[in-house]
Amino acid sequence: MTSTTGTVCPHCGWPDAAEPFQVVSRHATAAGSTLWTRCACGSLQVRAVDGGGTRIVSRSRPA
Ligand SMILES: [Zn+2]
Repeated sequence: MTSTTGTVCPHCGWPDAAEPFQVVSRHATAAGSTLWTRCACGSLQVRAVDGGGTRIVSRSRPA
């Protein structure tokens, strides 16, 4: 599985390639799945998961 964007959370530095701090919900899509995760800092992230790996689609400010 190839990795990711190689970026980190701009709020707390949590690596995007690491395991999500908390998985909020998961939704199946045609290409794979969409994963809603919460970072250690409270930032909500939307991750698109497909055969090529995971990428961050959207990221909120910390709650
Ligand atoms: Zn964070």
